[in-house]
Amino acid sequence: MDYLLEQVNNQLYVLAVWDAEWSTYTNAYFIQGDAGLTVVDSCKEGHLVFLQHALNKIGKTADDVKLMLVTHGHEDHVGGAPLFTKAKKVIHTDEIFPDASSIRGELLDRGVIGNFEYTRVGYHSPGSVIFFHRPTKTIFTGDFLCFFGDPLSEGGLVSKGDDLRQAWIEFLQGGGVARQDLPQFLTGLKIMKEYDPDVMCTGHGGVLVGDVGVFLDELMTIGEKNKKKE
Ligand SMILES: [Zn+2]
Ligand SMILES: [Zn+2]
Repeated sequence: MDYLLEQVNNQLYVLAVWDAEWSTYTNAYFIQGDAGLTVVDSCKEGHLVFLQHALNKIGKTADDVKLMLVTHGHEDHVGGAPLFTKAKKVIHTDEIFPDASSIRGELLDRGVIGNFEYTRVGYHSPGSVIFFHRPTKTIFTGDFLCFFGDPLSEGGLVSKGDDLRQAWIEFLQGGGVARQDLPQFLTGLKIMKEYDPDVMCTGHGGVLVGDVGVFLDELMTIGEKNKKKE
Protein backbone atom coordinates (compact mmCIF):
# COMPACT_ATOMS: atom_id res chain seq x y z
CA MET A 1 0.00 0.00 0.00
CA ASP A 2 1.61 3.21 -1.15
CA TYR A 3 -1.34 5.55 -1.09
CA LEU A 4 -5.01 5.88 -0.28
CA LEU A 5 -7.50 7.86 -2.33
CA GLU A 6 -10.95 8.60 -0.99
CA GLN A 7 -13.84 10.83 -1.96
CA VAL A 8 -14.76 13.11 0.95
CA ASN A 9 -17.85 14.70 -0.65
CA ASN A 10 -19.21 15.46 -4.10
CA GLN A 11 -16.41 17.93 -4.87
CA LEU A 12 -13.45 16.81 -2.79
CA TYR A 13 -10.94 13.94 -2.86
CA VAL A 14 -8.13 13.20 -0.45
CA LEU A 15 -4.90 11.50 -1.46
CA ALA A 16 -2.82 10.19 1.46
CA VAL A 17 0.61 8.93 0.42
CA TRP A 18 2.50 6.70 2.84
CA ASP A 19 5.99 8.17 3.18
CA ALA A 20 8.12 5.34 4.58
CA GLU A 21 11.16 7.62 4.83
CA TRP A 22 9.43 10.01 7.24
CA SER A 23 6.97 7.40 8.65
CA THR A 24 3.90 9.49 8.00
CA TYR A 25 0.99 9.92 5.68
CA THR A 26 1.34 13.03 3.55
CA ASN A 27 -1.77 14.43 1.93
CA ALA A 28 -2.85 16.29 -1.16
CA TYR A 29 -6.43 17.30 -2.00
CA PHE A 30 -8.31 17.65 -5.27
CA ILE A 31 -11.35 19.91 -5.42
CA GLN A 32 -13.66 19.98 -8.42
CA GLY A 33 -15.01 23.40 -9.40
CA ASP A 34 -16.58 25.17 -12.37
CA ALA A 35 -13.16 26.50 -13.42
CA GLY A 36 -11.45 23.10 -13.28
CA LEU A 37 -9.62 21.23 -10.57
CA THR A 38 -7.80 22.79 -7.67
CA VAL A 39 -5.07 20.94 -5.80
CA VAL A 40 -4.18 21.85 -2.23
CA ASP A 41 -0.57 20.85 -1.47
CA SER A 42 1.26 18.20 -3.48
CA CYS A 43 3.36 15.82 -1.33
CA LYS A 44 7.04 15.25 -2.12
CA GLU A 45 8.81 15.26 -5.47
CA GLY A 46 9.15 11.46 -5.19
CA HIS A 47 5.36 11.16 -4.94
CA LEU A 48 4.59 12.50 -8.42
CA VAL A 49 3.56 9.07 -9.65
CA PHE A 50 0.94 8.77 -6.90
CA LEU A 51 -0.52 12.15 -7.76
CA GLN A 52 -0.78 11.03 -11.38
CA HIS A 53 -2.37 7.70 -10.46
CA ALA A 54 -4.86 9.36 -8.17
CA LEU A 55 -5.88 11.89 -10.82
CA ASN A 56 -6.35 9.11 -13.37
CA LYS A 57 -8.54 7.21 -10.93
CA ILE A 58 -10.94 10.15 -10.74
CA GLY A 59 -10.88 10.52 -14.52
CA LYS A 60 -8.51 13.48 -14.67
CA THR A 61 -4.95 14.35 -15.57
CA ALA A 62 -2.49 16.87 -14.16
CA ASP A 63 -3.45 19.28 -16.96
CA ASP A 64 -6.99 19.51 -15.55
CA VAL A 65 -5.56 21.21 -12.48
CA LYS A 66 -5.92 24.98 -12.98
CA LEU A 67 -5.10 26.20 -9.50
CA MET A 68 -2.59 24.98 -6.92
CA LEU A 69 -2.90 26.30 -3.38
CA VAL A 70 0.07 25.72 -1.11
CA THR A 71 -0.36 25.89 2.67
CA HIS A 72 3.40 26.36 3.20
CA GLY A 73 6.74 25.82 1.51
CA HIS A 74 8.05 22.57 3.05
CA GLU A 75 9.22 19.93 0.60
CA ASP A 76 6.40 17.52 1.49
CA HIS A 77 3.84 20.12 0.34
CA VAL A 78 5.44 21.66 -2.74
CA GLY A 79 7.24 18.64 -4.24
CA GLY A 80 4.52 17.77 -6.75
CA ALA A 81 4.25 21.32 -8.11
CA PRO A 82 6.18 20.67 -11.38
CA LEU A 83 3.45 18.24 -12.43
CA PHE A 84 0.84 20.97 -12.69
CA THR A 85 2.04 22.93 -15.70
CA LYS A 86 -1.41 24.35 -16.51
CA ALA A 87 -2.05 25.64 -13.01
CA LYS A 88 -1.61 28.97 -11.33
CA LYS A 89 0.38 28.10 -8.18
CA VAL A 90 0.36 30.33 -5.15
CA ILE A 91 1.82 30.52 -1.66
CA HIS A 92 2.14 33.25 0.99
CA THR A 93 4.75 35.95 0.34
CA ASP A 94 6.61 35.06 3.58
CA GLU A 95 7.23 31.43 2.64
CA ILE A 96 10.50 29.99 1.38
CA PHE A 97 10.17 27.37 -1.35
CA PRO A 98 12.17 25.90 -4.24
CA ASP A 99 12.57 28.20 -7.26
CA ALA A 100 12.02 25.35 -9.70
CA SER A 101 8.46 24.81 -8.49
CA SER A 102 7.16 27.86 -10.45
CA ILE A 103 5.04 28.73 -7.43
CA ARG A 104 4.38 32.43 -6.90
CA GLY A 105 4.61 33.96 -3.45
CA GLU A 106 1.65 36.26 -3.79
CA LEU A 107 -0.84 35.42 -1.04
CA LEU A 108 -1.35 38.17 1.53
CA ASP A 109 -2.46 37.79 5.14
CA ARG A 110 -6.11 37.41 4.21
CA GLY A 111 -7.96 37.13 0.94
CA VAL A 112 -9.92 35.16 -1.59
CA ILE A 113 -8.57 33.07 -4.45
CA GLY A 114 -10.87 31.13 -6.76
CA ASN A 115 -13.54 29.51 -4.57
CA PHE A 116 -11.32 29.69 -1.51
CA GLU A 117 -10.90 32.11 1.33
CA TYR A 118 -7.60 32.13 3.17
CA THR A 119 -5.87 33.56 6.21
CA ARG A 120 -2.25 33.50 7.28
CA VAL A 121 -1.86 31.70 10.59
CA GLY A 122 1.93 31.82 10.75
CA TYR A 123 2.41 28.93 13.12
CA HIS A 124 4.60 26.00 11.92
CA SER A 125 6.18 28.33 9.32
CA PRO A 126 6.08 32.13 8.94
CA GLY A 127 3.70 32.18 5.98
CA SER A 128 1.56 29.16 6.82
CA VAL A 129 -1.91 29.73 5.44
CA ILE A 130 -5.21 27.97 6.01
CA PHE A 131 -7.69 27.77 3.15
CA PHE A 132 -11.45 27.53 3.47
CA HIS A 133 -13.71 26.17 0.73
CA ARG A 134 -17.10 27.56 1.64
CA PRO A 135 -19.20 25.47 -0.83
CA THR A 136 -18.22 22.31 1.08
CA LYS A 137 -17.37 24.02 4.40
CA THR A 138 -13.94 22.45 4.29
CA ILE A 139 -10.84 23.85 5.98
CA PHE A 140 -7.32 23.01 4.81
CA THR A 141 -4.94 23.39 7.70
CA GLY A 142 -1.60 22.28 6.26
CA ASP A 143 0.75 21.49 9.14
CA PHE A 144 -0.69 24.13 11.47
CA LEU A 145 -2.83 21.30 12.81
CA CYS A 146 -2.10 17.85 11.39
CA PHE A 147 -1.55 14.20 12.26
CA PHE A 148 2.08 13.85 11.29
CA GLY A 149 3.33 10.34 12.03
CA ASP A 150 -0.01 9.17 13.42
CA PRO A 151 -1.77 6.04 12.21
CA LEU A 152 -5.13 6.57 10.54
CA SER A 153 -8.22 6.66 12.71
CA GLU A 154 -9.94 3.35 13.46
CA GLY A 155 -12.83 4.89 11.50
CA GLY A 156 -10.68 5.12 8.36
CA LEU A 157 -9.00 7.91 6.40
CA VAL A 158 -12.15 10.06 6.38
CA SER A 159 -13.99 9.84 9.68
CA LYS A 160 -15.01 11.62 12.85
CA GLY A 161 -11.58 10.59 14.11
CA ASP A 162 -12.26 10.61 17.85
CA ASP A 163 -9.00 8.75 18.47
CA LEU A 164 -7.00 11.30 16.47
CA ARG A 165 -8.72 14.18 18.28
CA GLN A 166 -7.93 12.62 21.64
CA ALA A 167 -4.28 12.15 20.67
CA TRP A 168 -4.01 15.85 19.71
CA ILE A 169 -5.71 16.93 22.93
CA GLU A 170 -3.20 14.91 24.96
CA PHE A 171 -0.32 16.26 22.88
CA LEU A 172 -1.42 19.83 23.61
CA GLN A 173 -2.06 19.06 27.30
CA GLY A 174 1.48 17.70 27.49
CA GLY A 175 2.94 20.96 26.18
CA GLY A 176 3.18 19.93 22.52
CA VAL A 177 2.87 23.55 21.43
CA ALA A 178 5.69 25.59 22.99
CA ARG A 179 4.60 28.31 25.40
CA GLN A 180 5.97 31.13 23.25
CA ASP A 181 3.99 29.82 20.27
CA LEU A 182 0.69 29.52 22.12
CA PRO A 183 -0.67 33.02 21.37
CA GLN A 184 -0.19 32.56 17.64
CA PHE A 185 -1.52 29.00 17.78
CA LEU A 186 -4.64 30.14 19.65
CA THR A 187 -5.23 32.96 17.18
CA GLY A 188 -5.04 30.44 14.34
CA LEU A 189 -7.57 28.17 16.03
CA LYS A 190 -9.91 31.12 16.46
CA ILE A 191 -9.63 32.00 12.78
CA MET A 192 -10.43 28.40 11.88
CA LYS A 193 -13.41 28.35 14.22
CA GLU A 194 -14.81 31.52 12.65
CA TYR A 195 -14.97 29.80 9.27
CA ASP A 196 -17.30 27.27 10.97
CA PRO A 197 -15.96 24.22 9.07
CA ASP A 198 -17.66 20.83 8.76
CA VAL A 199 -14.58 19.09 7.36
CA MET A 200 -10.94 19.41 8.41
CA CYS A 201 -8.29 18.42 5.87
CA THR A 202 -4.78 18.50 7.28
CA GLY A 203 -1.33 18.15 5.76
CA HIS A 204 -0.81 14.67 7.16
CA GLY A 205 -3.13 11.75 7.91
CA GLY A 206 -6.81 11.56 8.78
CA VAL A 207 -9.53 13.85 7.44
CA LEU A 208 -12.02 14.81 10.16
CA VAL A 209 -15.73 15.14 9.47
CA GLY A 210 -18.35 16.34 11.94
CA ASP A 211 -18.18 18.52 15.08
CA VAL A 212 -14.96 20.19 13.93
CA GLY A 213 -15.94 23.32 15.90
CA VAL A 214 -16.21 21.24 19.09
CA PHE A 215 -12.69 19.92 18.55
CA LEU A 216 -11.35 23.44 17.99
CA ASP A 217 -13.09 24.64 21.17
CA GLU A 218 -11.48 21.82 23.15
CA LEU A 219 -8.04 22.74 21.84
CA MET A 220 -8.60 26.43 22.59
CA THR A 221 -9.64 25.66 26.16
CA ILE A 222 -6.50 23.62 26.78
CA GLY A 223 -4.30 26.19 25.05
CA GLU A 224 -5.71 29.02 27.19
CA LYS A 225 -5.12 26.95 30.33
CA ASN A 226 -1.51 26.23 29.31
CA LYS A 227 -0.94 29.91 28.64
CA LYS A 228 -1.88 30.77 32.24
CA LYS A 229 0.37 28.10 33.78
CA GLU A 230 3.52 29.31 35.46
ZN1 LIG B 1 5.48 21.55 7.22
ZN1 LIG C 1 4.21 18.53 6.20
